[in-house]
Amino acid sequence: MAGNQYDFADKHAVVTGGASGIGLAIAHLLSAGGAVVSLWDHNAEVLKKAQAGFAGREVHGVTVDVSDEASVAAAVAQSETHGGTVQILVNSAGITGPNKTVCDYSVEDWDKVMAVNLRGTFLCCRALAPGMTTSGYGRIINIASIAGKEGNPNASAYSASKAAVIGLTKSLGKELAKTGVTVNCVTPAAVHTAIFDQMTQQHIDYMLSKIPMGRFGQTEEVAALVGWLASPDCSFTTGGTFDISGGRATY
Ligand code: NAD
Repeated sequence: MAGNQYDFADKHAVVTGGASGIGLAIAHLLSAGGAVVSLWDHNAEVLKKAQAGFAGREVHGVTVDVSDEASVAAAVAQSETHGGTVQILVNSAGITGPNKTVCDYSVEDWDKVMAVNLRGTFLCCRALAPGMTTSGYGRIINIASIAGKEGNPNASAYSASKAAVIGLTKSLGKELAKTGVTVNCVTPAAVHTAIFDQMTQQHIDYMLSKIPMGRFGQTEEVAALVGWLASPDCSFTTGGTFDISGGRATY
């Protein structure tokens, strides 16, 4: 797919969940623009395969659990040793949790989804934003979901976690508004990636049925939107929520 190119030379980007799907496509776009990329993922095997696809470009893989404070601190140390101060953070690590009604949802599953999607995003922002504010430049992009705006049935923990990521983005965007660091999020509708393996076919069919364009999004389409949000051109936009939903978003 052809696309706009941005100049990310001299930038160090961390992409959580960067070994797969949307995060991997974003990592490729950043890398193609000249960024040193650190892929943060907890799946070491998928991470290794993903790294091999960058053919000679500078990509550093870090095995990390974004929901764990100590693991995130260790990942920051490893990445900074490799690529210096981080100027771009993309929080794409995420899980769906089971497709069950609220009444059938276990506390354990609820906590797990919140830990990865919300606490993980919070921990990575908290760990990397100070280096950006000190240097006076940074771009943070959180991958939320249309589920966070609309609330998908049988996906309450996921929907609530993504609504919370939108709220976190707004708060942090305002907190950092005068620092040169922008913080925005995107809210994709369904994109066919490995995350579909975590959902029921019925739920996947439901998500597709809600998209007026009648198709799933593509990882490269999400990356194209994130490319601008990660670039220096995104200089007067912060705390924003950007839809990429084939027409599903209604506000
Ligand atoms: P994916 O499963 O292909 O990628 C997610 C990656 O996150 C995986 O590589 C996984 O190993 C990693 N990960 C999971 N838990 C982690 C943890 N605790 N620590 C570190 N890494 C962890 O899925 P994707 O579709 O690329 O999803 C990326 C993001 O986009 C997620 O936040 C997801 O909620 C969001 N999103 C996806 C869709 C979609 O339909 N695919 C739609 C809207 C939003």
